Amino acid sequence: MTTVAAYAAPAAKAPLERTTIERREVGAADVLIDIKFAGICHSDIHQAREGWGEAIFPMVPGHEIAGIVSEVGSGVTKYKVGDRVGVGCMVDSCRECDNCKAGLEQYCTGGGMTGTYNAVGKDGEPTYGGYSEKIVVDENYVVRIPDGLSLDVAAPLLCAGITTYSPLKHWNAGPGKKVAVLGMGGLGHMGVKIAHALGAEVTVLSQSLRKKDDGLKLGADHYYATSDPKTFEELRGTFDVILSTVSAPLDLDAYLSLLRTDGAFVNVGAPEEPVRLNLFSVIGGRKTLAGSGIGGIRETQEMLDFCAEHGFGAEIELISASEINDAYERVLASDVRYRFVIDTATI
Ligand code: NAP
Ligand code: ZN
Ligand code: ZN
Repeated sequence: MTTVAAYAAPAAKAPLERTTIERREVGAADVLIDIKFAGICHSDIHQAREGWGEAIFPMVPGHEIAGIVSEVGSGVTKYKVGDRVGVGCMVDSCRECDNCKAGLEQYCTGGGMTGTYNAVGKDGEPTYGGYSEKIVVDENYVVRIPDGLSLDVAAPLLCAGITTYSPLKHWNAGPGKKVAVLGMGGLGHMGVKIAHALGAEVTVLSQSLRKKDDGLKLGADHYYATSDPKTFEELRGTFDVILSTVSAPLDLDAYLSLLRTDGAFVNVGAPEEPVRLNLFSVIGGRKTLAGSGIGGIRETQEMLDFCAEHGFGAEIELISASEINDAYERVLASDVRYRFVIDTATI
């Protein structure tokens, strides 16, 4: 066991504070990673404040991890000391079910994926995430960060990047398709960059026009405020795909009206309360209401390579560990441009 410094929430709704945690010995299939940067995902806040239901405390959040391999187990074949690597939302799964075999480990039916934190690993111990100095992970749940991407802007790709890339690919965002990205936060701004790079015509639907200049710079073709009722009249029946990254409950019926016939509203936002739906909103126009969860390991590597080829990472605000609690408040106030990333050297 190795003792490492970390930032943890000691209990639901308590502020995060500095502490130490134990990391397991490096097993035959494991790599030890010196974490350099960890992104703050809104999911960290939902979980640290127990908004999604019972959670495990103390909790070390963080599933947008970028770092350098500093030790490898005797059986490791994919990585060597010095490699630049990332870890996202999962650190294990059953590896035997159809989904695991198909590279959809996030939908593992053999007991579910093991979350990077707020979960219990196969060894019966709780998992602790990226707001820490080091992590030990099985090499099969580690991805390579391409040379062209610096580690700080790559970290958020491990969740915000893959969570938007996977559904955009699945629902065929590309040339000739009109894609709306709902919410311009951590996930949303990556959705804009990726949908644009895939060749789609991109519209941002944000609560206000405050971030319009940024949205257009990141690749959006159009930008509308959802607080303006005229937006819903003007854009009625427009989109092939709406990707919702909103962290709070929404008026789904209003957004479904913006889809064209056979369009899909794909939800990745994970609000803490249920939402209402009038089913006539999907009957008229044969519309799809769908969801999507992160992405598999293979697809996460594909996404990192895609971002490197297109020359972009995330737009980040680098913070020190002592600023985590303030950053949480700013995320909750939709005041993030566009991802807080912790410099883990400050832990
Ligand atoms: P974020 O940075 O806080 O972005 C969410 C954006 O939603 C905000 O920037 C804001 O955009 C908009 N928004 C917030 N409250 C709203 C409200 N009351 N009404 C309308 N719009 C609102 O969060 P994130 O890290 O991108 O995560 C977004 C959601 O996705 C979270 O619920 C998170 O847990 C979930 N998530 C899901 C997955 C998955 O696998 N499905 C993975 C990661 C995260 P504007 O200011 O532009 O309006
Ligand atoms: Zn996340
Ligand atoms: Zn499985």
